[in-house]
Amino acid sequence: MKNITVIGAGTMGNGIAHVFAQNGFEVSLVDISEERLENALKTIGKNLERQQAKGLLTEAETQATLKRIQTGTELRAGVQQADLVVEAATENAHLKKEIFREMDTHSPSGAILATNTSSISITEIAAVTGRAQQVIGMHFMNPVPVMKLVEVIRGYSTSNAVTQTVLELSRQLGKVPTEVNDYPGFVANRILMPMINEAIETLFHGVAGVTEIDSVMKLGMGHPMGPLQLADFIGLDVCLSILEVMHKGFRNPKYAPCPLLVKMVTAGKLGVKSGEGFYDYSESRKAEKVSPQFQ
Ligand code: NAD
Repeated sequence: MKNITVIGAGTMGNGIAHVFAQNGFEVSLVDISEERLENALKTIGKNLERQQAKGLLTEAETQATLKRIQTGTELRAGVQQADLVVEAATENAHLKKEIFREMDTHSPSGAILATNTSSISITEIAAVTGRAQQVIGMHFMNPVPVMKLVEVIRGYSTSNAVTQTVLELSRQLGKVPTEVNDYPGFVANRILMPMINEAIETLFHGVAGVTEIDSVMKLGMGHPMGPLQLADFIGLDVCLSILEVMHKGFRNPKYAPCPLLVKMVTAGKLGVKSGEGFYDYSESRKAEKVSPQFQ
């Protein structure tokens, strides 16, 4: 494995490109938006500087890492040399299937096609390609350069050889892979999202305010971040999409998204990436002031 293509340069795509490049892989980062690509390169640069300031990287390693990342808006050109493609585009099944059809058509026949989806069926995505045995879930956690886990998800047809390759590759990135089966939300989000949704319900029912709910979970349960702040970091639109996939997939009302979450996404309050969610990030990402809506 030498050439890695990452599709989607948002919150996750820039982190995935970062860790592959830092570990010596040639990375092609593709997005439909030039602006997203520019922002991704800026974010990668800032995060590498932070690692350098902590003594984790030398200046030369930072420069070499940046040199290994090429960007582009053409999927076809971006995947032509790929040994592995990691798709990290918007969490939407229809869109992902379109992207996988294209990836399948234009990437080398031996390439592994992975998706960073948080919840969508790997089996369903694989079915639109002619190489279902080479399609797999590679679910990185946010922020990718920091978090150790990669949830490796086997679709119905994913081969043992491809699974082993992806487990080994994850270790090469300094990550700890965990192999799981293909059910809505897999393991991470099947457990995390009901907790986040319940925190939003608790706010919705006026049981407590934003900082109180987050304080209970931080100070009482030892969570490094409260569930409402975590939802802001993940993106409220991403949380909503995951809950909808689990609600539909299990046909169980316990996964129904809280109306407040639906309303906030409709209003464009998506968390850190839009500048406001449960907290207000307009002046500084570290501000952590409660959003005016909840004061
Ligand atoms: P995001 O909204 O920050 O970024 C998505 C990017 O995909 C955008 O830059 C968009 O321009 C791009 N895109 C849309 N259509 C495209 C196309 N046809 N071709 C190329 N690029 C396209 O989303 P994100 O939070 O980075 O999530 C990406 C994926 O990672 C989703 O599947 C999500 O469920 C998953 N994920 C997210 C998190 C998280 O904490 N945000 C964690 C783990 C996994």
